[in-house]
Amino acid sequence: MFRVLLLLLASAATLAAAQGMTYVILWFDTEDYVDPIADDAALRIANDLTRLGVQATFKVVGEKARVLEARRRRDVIEALTRHSIGYHSDWHSIQPVPSIDLQHLGWLEGADEFQRRQEGGFRDVGRIFGITPVCYGQPGSSWAPQSNLALRRMGIHVYLDEGIQVGANDQPVWYDGLLYVFKMGPYQIRADLDGHTPFSKTSEQFDEAVQHFATNGGGLISTVYHPTEFVHTEFWDAVNFANGASRERDQWVLPHRRAADDAEHCFRILTEYVEHAKKTPGVRFITANDLLHIYSSPVPPNVDVRILARHFQNGITFLSVSSGDLSAADVLLELLGVPPQYVDGPTFRGATTYLEPSIPEPLFDATVQDVRNFVQVNHRLPSEVFVGSLRLSLGDFAATLAGHVLSPGPVRVAQGRLEFERYFTNDTEAAFRWPIHPRGFAPAELLELARLQGWTLKPARLR
Ligand SMILES: [Zn+2]
Repeated sequence: MFRVLLLLLASAATLAAAQGMTYVILWFDTEDYVDPIADDAALRIANDLTRLGVQATFKVVGEKARVLEARRRRDVIEALTRHSIGYHSDWHSIQPVPSIDLQHLGWLEGADEFQRRQEGGFRDVGRIFGITPVCYGQPGSSWAPQSNLALRRMGIHVYLDEGIQVGANDQPVWYDGLLYVFKMGPYQIRADLDGHTPFSKTSEQFDEAVQHFATNGGGLISTVYHPTEFVHTEFWDAVNFANGASRERDQWVLPHRRAADDAEHCFRILTEYVEHAKKTPGVRFITANDLLHIYSSPVPPNVDVRILARHFQNGITFLSVSSGDLSAADVLLELLGVPPQYVDGPTFRGATTYLEPSIPEPLFDATVQDVRNFVQVNHRLPSEVFVGSLRLSLGDFAATLAGHVLSPGPVRVAQGRLEFERYFTNDTEAAFRWPIHPRGFAPAELLELARLQGWTLKPARLR
């Protein structure tokens, strides 16, 4: 009898190991510094989850942290600190919001500007909560690629939010040197607080995701709420700062509050969702702190250089092999013979002015040597590459180098196709639609800069 039981246990364990885990990251954008009732909502949610034995991630706005301190809400701060703490910008919806601030700035200048405007709030959240915020996510859809470089300088390595600007396979990616939970498609799941989608439909969607991940090596579900949603029927910022408006503090109005029993109903829906996830086999809640542990490091695997060269001839994008993933930048560094390291993408789109079909080998060797040096000094890829006084775009250089690696001798100039650009949206207006942005706001410059950084994009892989 005992032996049968052991056998049964052993086969159950094998089954569990073979099945992919579903990780759920539950995060709360904690941002309403207008109505103090939102402080109580955050407290209630944090305590409810602690009672359920679930850790969430609270992304806190700088001004929200400061008003909690000014209102002497140690109880809220302590309750949230039992979870993971992230950063959600300094002022959230006060202009200029990040996309407006950074729209016309380049990669380096924009990173400096983001850091100038956002680092103070980051430090305030850290001081008030006694913990360094572990992740960042933009206010609304006010996303800008330059934030990524600034975040790395500030010590943040996880981007946790939702948007359509960039993403691959509806799962986390590495982008600009950050672990990016973004554009999660059908794996962004939440139980609707107002019953527009019945709970049974959401739990079905949840179960389908778990089923899918069980047979596909595991995956992540991203679930977002705002504490303010549980106690209000409208957003605190939409009633004050719509369409780019500025309004002085003494003119701020409160959003419409839910009736007490309505709010209670919302808290119950969250509990129901969490309980459903908890009782589903193969599901584990994680925080932003856990992400860097459950995903493999971005160090690229060893791949034969001829395979990499052939990959670039088919199109310039990331490469996934059984042992790991290489971004287009990782592949280029291998072709250049530069040791693996993270480097940024180029700062502008260079154009090819070298129009001959081939390059004398000594001249090309000098070019390759110069690119190696540029990368190692600047820790980023050059926007254009010099062949004497003429230029190759980075994509054309990469394709030409790949061809040269495969057949040494005379260097034939090749055209590079930047396939990674298809992981970026072209629908600028939809990507930046947000009640706080001016109507019709469409910063195409930010998406262009984002695409340039597509050299750094690759899927993130569960350990
Ligand atoms: Zn927000």
